[in-house]
Amino acid sequence: MSYSSIEKRLAEGKTIILDGGIGGELQKVGAKMDEGLWCGRCSIDSPNELLKVHQNYIQAGADVITANTYASTPISMKKYGYENIIKECNHKSIEIAKKAVAGRDVLVAGSVSTYGYFMKDGIKKMKPSFDQHLNILSDVGVDLIILEAMSSQADIVEVLVECSNSLKLPIWLSISCVFDKNKNIHLGYDDDATNNEPQVYERLEESLLRFKKFHSGPILVAHSNMSVTEEAIKILKSNYNHTIGAYPNRGYFVKPEWKFTDDVTTSEYFESAKKWINSGAQIIGGCCGIGVEEIKAISILKN
Ligand SMILES: [Zn+2]
Repeated sequence: MSYSSIEKRLAEGKTIILDGGIGGELQKVGAKMDEGLWCGRCSIDSPNELLKVHQNYIQAGADVITANTYASTPISMKKYGYENIIKECNHKSIEIAKKAVAGRDVLVAGSVSTYGYFMKDGIKKMKPSFDQHLNILSDVGVDLIILEAMSSQADIVEVLVECSNSLKLPIWLSISCVFDKNKNIHLGYDDDATNNEPQVYERLEESLLRFKKFHSGPILVAHSNMSVTEEAIKILKSNYNHTIGAYPNRGYFVKPEWKFTDDVTTSEYFESAKKWINSGAQIIGGCCGIGVEEIKAISILKN
């Protein structure tokens, strides 16, 4: 499948299925997590397990699978002592994802994130690293880029989108959202068991006003809890006139492992996915803690 067939399906109002979390599934099949790089080294340390995870998602009905490049950003790899294998590790991730596709109608997305970055580093330091990561992924021929789980200042997202635009690849922007104490939705994170207060950044409506100026591709609510996701989709629908999507998480992070919870059953996930579609989401999948079982369940919503 080419990206143009995804665009055609989206234009016809159809639903596209994205895969679920990669790190969590790798854990389930026994892959070793790295203290610093989380699942980022699995492409080298546990290639067979990674291949299996991708294959399972494809079998479950995913139209787009995400390569294991979320945590292997140049900055994080330098930080944890893997500077000499930045290219090798990222190439290996794409190679394994493509091997899993094996000629089927499935696209490979390269994941780019701010994993390992600190806001205090400043954009000047981040930009060359964003460029480096994007170029590595583009050179090995990913079908699209997902800028994943963006949660902080809109200007960092802007720089990242700007770097991505030079690639001439489709760009999906995924954002992580939280409620503040007044139940307003902001960009932010709420997945750390050791941190009781969520990290809250800009109000979603304000961020969208800015995002619209430099991005017209899909925006997806990702790595957010289920209740925020449902509300955030409604805000996106009324403030963003392009494709929207959702892939929430379940559980929480205690580095280097994702902790699974059973507060949302597979059938509840399926019911929620129907609501997201009714609210206007056209790309649906799952993030950390959402696995093959859930993707299989929601893939029947494909039309
Ligand atoms: Zn996630």
